[in-house]
Amino acid sequence: MNILVINCGSSSLKYQLIQSDTETVLAKGICERIGLEESRVSYEPANGKKETKIVSMSTHSEAVRIALDVLTNEQSGVIKTLEEIGAVGHRVAHGGEFFTSSTLLNEKAIKAVADCCEIAPLHNPLSLSGIYACKELMPKVPMTAVFDTAFHQTMPKKAYLYGVPYEYYEKYKMRRYGFHGTSHSYVAKRAAALLGKPAASLKTIVCHLGNGSSIAAVEYGKSIDTTMGFTPLEGLIMGTRSGSIDPAALQYLMHKENLNIDDMLGILNKKSGVYGISGRSSDFRDLGEAKKAGSERAADALEIFAYQCAKFIGAYAAAMKGVDAIVFTAGIGENDKDTRERICEYLCWLGIRIDESANSRRGEEMKISTSDSNVTVMVIPTNEELEIARETLRLIMS
Ligand code: AMP
Repeated sequence: MNILVINCGSSSLKYQLIQSDTETVLAKGICERIGLEESRVSYEPANGKKETKIVSMSTHSEAVRIALDVLTNEQSGVIKTLEEIGAVGHRVAHGGEFFTSSTLLNEKAIKAVADCCEIAPLHNPLSLSGIYACKELMPKVPMTAVFDTAFHQTMPKKAYLYGVPYEYYEKYKMRRYGFHGTSHSYVAKRAAALLGKPAASLKTIVCHLGNGSSIAAVEYGKSIDTTMGFTPLEGLIMGTRSGSIDPAALQYLMHKENLNIDDMLGILNKKSGVYGISGRSSDFRDLGEAKKAGSERAADALEIFAYQCAKFIGAYAAAMKGVDAIVFTAGIGENDKDTRERICEYLCWLGIRIDESANSRRGEEMKISTSDSNVTVMVIPTNEELEIARETLRLIMS
C-alpha cells in the first residue's frame, strides 16, 4: 500500500509517499513559504532529480493540493491517480491526554485533535488544516494521526506533574507532555533491534538533538520521563530556545526591558539558546567553526549544551536505576562528533568509553562505544516519516 505522510509546520508542509510493503520512499518534498511571497514546492522522486518550482499557495489546503498534483503529474509523478494512495498519516504535535497512541481519524478523533488546539494553539491548527484538506481531496482514503506527545503518555505522575496547585492540572490539564515522541519511539525500538534484545528488557536514554532538542528515558520500551514539558520550550538549551529558566527571572527582565509576555516568549523561543549565547548562529556547524576561530561565546554555547545533555542523561540513569544504551539522533546527534564526544566525556563515571574512529563517522546506524564500555552508546538516524507510515499501516490493518 502507498501511504502519504503529511507534516504541517508553520509555513511549510512536508510530504512523503511511502510504499509500505518495501518501506521505500517513492517520492518526497516540501511546500515552503505558505502564505508568503515566492512560495515554492520541491519534489524528489526516488529515481529522479529534485525539482523546485515557485507556485503560489496561501493556505495549507492549497499546499496539500499542490503536493498531490506533483505526485500525480503525468511526466514526473510516481502515481497516476489519487486512488493509488491507500492511506494518509498525519503528524500531529499535540494529543493532550486524549491520545495515548496513534489513532484512526474518524469524526470523534478529529474533534479531539481540534480540542487540543487549546493547549497547542501554535501547532494543532496547522495539522488540522492538513487533515481537512486531505479529507476534502481524498474523502474515501483512511487517515491517521500520529502524535508527538503520545509516546510520553506512559510517564508516571511523579514525572509529569509540575509543582503548582493541583487544581491547574485538574482544570486546565497543565502538566508535562513531552514532544519528539515519534522519534524517541522509533529510535528506542531500532536500538533494541540492533542490540538483538527485546525493547521490554532495556533501559535506554534517547537524545534527540536537533534544532529542537529533547532527551527521553525509555524504560522497558516505555517513556518514563522527558525533558520537554507543557510546550517544547522546556528542558535543554536548544538552537534558539532557552530551555528551562527560572520564571521569576522573566518578571525581572520584562520589567527592566519593558516587555510584555508575548515579547518575552518570542525572545525565549527565537532569540535564545545557543544562538542567544553565542550571538552568532543556532547551527552547530557554524559554532564549531567559530570556536576554532577563537570565539569564546561560541565555545561557551557548545559547552553549555553538552553539559546540560550530560546532566539530564545522569538524571535519567538515576530515574531508571541504570542504563543499558544511550542513543544519539537528529541533526546534531547524528552528525556532530565533537558534541557526542564531549557529552560522553562527562559520562565517564558511568564507565562509558567511546571508540574515536567509530565516532568520527557520520549519519549512519552505528555503535560508537568500545567493547569494554559499561553502557552501549549508539547513533541511529531518526525516521519519523517511516514510523508514521508504520503506525498508519498498523491502525488500518487492525
Ligand atoms: P534537525 O532539527 O534535526 O534537522 O537538526 C538541525 C541542526 O543539526 C542544525 O541546526 C545543526 O545545528 C545540526 N547539524 C546538522 N548537520 C550538522 C553537522 N554536519 N555537524 C554539526 N551539526 C550539524
